[in-house]
Amino acid sequence: MKNRLIFQIPNLEKGKQILPTPSKEISSIEINIPENLKRIKSARLPQISEPLLIRHYNNLSKKNFGVDNGFYPLGSCTMKYNPKINEVISRLENFANIHPYQDGEDIQGALQLMYELDVLLCEITGMDKFTLQPSAGAHGELTGLFIINAYHREKGNKRKNIIIPDSAHGTNPASVTMAGYNTVTVDSDEKGKVDIKKLSKLLDENTAGLMLTNPNTLGLFDENILKISERVHDAGGLVYYDGANLNAIMGIAKPRDMGFDIVHLNLHKTFSTPHGGGGPGSGPIGVKKELSKFLPVPTVEVNGEGRYYLDYDKKDSIGKVKAFYGNFNVLIKAYSYILSLGAQGLKRVSQLAVLNANYLKKHLNKYYYLPYPEICMHEFVISAIWQKEKGIRALDIAKRLMDFGFHPPTIYFPLIVKEALMIEPTETENKETLDMFIKAMKQIAEEADENPEILKSAPHKTPVKRLDEVKAAKDLILKYDL
Ligand SMILES: *Cc1c(COP(=O)(O)O)cnc(C)c1O
Repeated sequence: MKNRLIFQIPNLEKGKQILPTPSKEISSIEINIPENLKRIKSARLPQISEPLLIRHYNNLSKKNFGVDNGFYPLGSCTMKYNPKINEVISRLENFANIHPYQDGEDIQGALQLMYELDVLLCEITGMDKFTLQPSAGAHGELTGLFIINAYHREKGNKRKNIIIPDSAHGTNPASVTMAGYNTVTVDSDEKGKVDIKKLSKLLDENTAGLMLTNPNTLGLFDENILKISERVHDAGGLVYYDGANLNAIMGIAKPRDMGFDIVHLNLHKTFSTPHGGGGPGSGPIGVKKELSKFLPVPTVEVNGEGRYYLDYDKKDSIGKVKAFYGNFNVLIKAYSYILSLGAQGLKRVSQLAVLNANYLKKHLNKYYYLPYPEICMHEFVISAIWQKEKGIRALDIAKRLMDFGFHPPTIYFPLIVKEALMIEPTETENKETLDMFIKAMKQIAEEADENPEILKSAPHKTPVKRLDEVKAAKDLILKYDL
């Protein structure tokens, strides 16, 4: 009996419990289960053979569409190829098996990685300090707004308004509301940029800040950005950069130099984490030195002896925004992505993302209306208003693209463009792929003239056709019937 450990399952009826004392000599475990807890009938578990199970999952996987099986130009979402080396590194045992409660001294490597990622993101954006805790872009926005709030509270300000352009991503006003602020919308001018005159009229002693994406969701870089940030600062507000999508400016421009005080980045868009399907993401935020005392605890720091540690000792911190330190696995991928590309590589990513977008825009321009014709950044928006005259909507074009093996672009966003199709090819696509997409879009434009029915009834080749998307989201059926 010396080397056997006996677990006594607590007998709830009698309220007795015997705790086992672990011993190094234990070699086997015996479990004593009280009679009244024993299963009488066998469990109703599904009975299926291995080959049928394998076929089931393989067939399901083939019905799915992802960046690894086709072109996925979903504007604003940056569905680009994520190098597999970063997945391999993030799965290394010594990263994957550490426990968040482990002592800082035991996980120096992990802390070093987080500290260095912070430094790298600071270099890319020009900011002074990052928190890696927020788990998505919207979560970063909320964290940033809490910091704006802490900044004004310290100053004794009672400012209630956050200004957002009408082209903004939907999460911006949602985060503003969640943080207890009011959204004030500033219109875009005819070129798709912030209307500075209108902005000036909106700025007052109630302005807590401005939230801006640059390049904006039309894929346009607002060259008035210095004037804009200056006006907001003059009015006593802070300027927040929605950098969910940094693909156009890495190694070329820094949000800090544009006058931004707070920045969030989506590691799951720009820095090599697959997304879609609600997988874990990461939305770190970076701030200027004056705001770093408000960052969530803990921050990762290094002491004079080169030892890394978690700093909880920050009396002005807004507190915690996520359990532990964020989605560590996503941080590893971003770190690995940045180091494997290097400064020149990141710059090249941005140059190619912009080149690919302009190449597509220049060709699609012949078949679709282009509301904002100037040079675009990593994405651009076309409109199906010419096709609408023939009864074809952006939705029909999107559905028809699936028959050509392409994921449709984002549609009906940004809201300021009618029948919008927002296209982001990303840097990881080659010219042949872009040419095939142009060919498909040309054919679709011709079909709108000659055979509109084929568009209205598309897609023709997918396992499911037109779904009621609201019902699909609200009434999710996870059962699979053959
Ligand atoms: C994707 C995106 C967001 C939101 O990011 P999530 O990680 O989905 O919360 C915010 N702003 C812009 C411009 C985006 O493209």
